[in-house]
Amino acid sequence: MPIGYWESEHLLAPADFTVIGGGIVGMSAALHFKAAHPKARVRLVERDVLGEGGTTRNAGFACFGGAGEWLDDLEALGAERWLALIQMRAEGLRALIELLGTSALGLEWCGGWELLAARGAEDQKVQRVLDALPELNRLAQPVLSSVLRDVHPASADTPALSLAPQRAHEFGAHAAVHLCWEGMLHTGKMVSAFHKALGAANIQCLNGCTVDALTAREDHAGWTLDTQRGPLISQKVAICTNGFARAILPGLEVKPAPNRVLVVTPKTMPPAGAYHIEDGYLYFRTLPGGQILFGGGRQYGIDLPHYPALDAEATALWDQKLTADAEQWLGPIDAITHRWTGWLGVGPDREPIIGSTAPGLHHAVRMGGMGVAIGCGMGKALADAIIAHNA
Ligand SMILES: Cc1cc2nc3c(=O)[nH]c(=O)nc-3n(C[C@H](O)[C@H](O)[C@H](O)COP(=O)(O)OP(=O)(O)OC[C@H]3O[C@@H](n4cnc5c(N)ncnc54)[C@H](O)[C@@H]3O)c2cc1C
Repeated sequence: MPIGYWESEHLLAPADFTVIGGGIVGMSAALHFKAAHPKARVRLVERDVLGEGGTTRNAGFACFGGAGEWLDDLEALGAERWLALIQMRAEGLRALIELLGTSALGLEWCGGWELLAARGAEDQKVQRVLDALPELNRLAQPVLSSVLRDVHPASADTPALSLAPQRAHEFGAHAAVHLCWEGMLHTGKMVSAFHKALGAANIQCLNGCTVDALTAREDHAGWTLDTQRGPLISQKVAICTNGFARAILPGLEVKPAPNRVLVVTPKTMPPAGAYHIEDGYLYFRTLPGGQILFGGGRQYGIDLPHYPALDAEATALWDQKLTADAEQWLGPIDAITHRWTGWLGVGPDREPIIGSTAPGLHHAVRMGGMGVAIGCGMGKALADAIIAHNA
């Protein structure tokens, strides 16, 4: 659609900084940039009405990972990179609290539980996890307590991971691990608080606007963003489209991965809290209205096409498997009231990628399954790097 006079001269006039992607990372990057440059014209462009990635569709775990996942990452990445990842999650959550506030997030430090499957002591992974608890604690505890101690009620010497035999008994699990630093937030409230902050900061949000391509301007005056609404010009651009980033920057090592979620009403409610199963590939949590959000299932290996395409058969198969897993852990289910798919951005490991590919062209993507924890910190780190280098 050609751009009109009022649009090109005022409404869609060139911006100083444009963020593509209105998820946690993009909203955080826009807010942190604007806070440092209050006079800058900052624009956020999002292709969906609300967002179609993970930010409005996640489970709301304020989490750092469970013991099984930590052990896998420690073995794959080595202690230094693994601890850096834990630190990123803790600092990201802290940045989120500092930006929006605990009560605006509906954040409760309720603790989490990892349920280790009742497959018997011969399950080697379960035994390895149990054996590794002291070492995982020794390494992760100082990081979590030093970053979170003044925003979290736990005392600095409370172990990050401790055995919870009573919880294991309640779920018929082989073992359960209490994750003392974990919490739960209200995803809807978090996104509302972001929107309120964007409005208060006078950041222009263009929703329902897809960026199809980017081209460097010949006069080195920034970038042109091709959209169905016409070209948008910006001096600096940040790509925060997570799993979808390769559509604009094909060289990035990130891909979209679906995650399914059900909201179920079990016959008997479990104790309140956030639960991880199968190294975090399955998870469930209690909801304020007295139901359970049960999700995950990437390990099923089912391919779902991207929104807005649908594959009803694959989706039904996924839901069937998820329902069976929900019944295994929660007992009989009376009703399933909500079902949805959200998209993660994943790569060969759980580390996010942040950087620049050309002057004025920046990215922060690949938040994996813990972008609620790391996302705000990644947006802040991206804005800080752009500001520091005036890049
Ligand atoms: C089902 C599910 C449950 C989860 N649960 C948790 C949890 O409990 N705790 C946790 O820490 N993390 C969780 N996550 C992960 C977390 O939600 C994500 O890592 C995080 O939201 C990623 O934020 P983001 O800003 O990087 O990306 P996204 O939220 O994916 O945002 C990217 C945005 O870019 C937009 N976009 C894409 N392409 C374009 C384009 N070309 N032009 C304009 N806009 C575009 C998309 O519409 C999207 O809104 C979950 C994710 C899912 C899917």
